[in-house]
Amino acid sequence: MKGINHDRGYIFALCLLITIFLYFHISIYELTQVFLFWVIGTLYLSPDLDARYSRSKLRIGHFRYLFIFTKHRGFMHNLIFGIFICVIMGYFGYWGARLGILGSAMVHIIFDSIF
Ligand SMILES: [Zn+2]
Repeated sequence: MKGINHDRGYIFALCLLITIFLYFHISIYELTQVFLFWVIGTLYLSPDLDARYSRSKLRIGHFRYLFIFTKHRGFMHNLIFGIFICVIMGYFGYWGARLGILGSAMVHIIFDSIF
């Protein structure tokens, strides 16, 4: 799937999530935390960091060299890896950050598997 379509999917899923949050009266603090980390997950920490050419890889500057030896759709597209990262974040109490990062990664992986 092309990157722009991924971004559209991220935005659509985020709007849906915000609507659900507003319906259930989730606090604005938690909503803001989810929103910020969703955007960070979309723009900078996308699972496509392992791709040879990805827009998120270009955005992270010199950190892109960390992903030189990874193959596309390898461990970065593994849901277990994403859940592991989110469990660590949840351990420190940032459930909004966890939901934002995991949610955007899950949307990406689902879109990759469908299209
Ligand atoms: Zn991908």
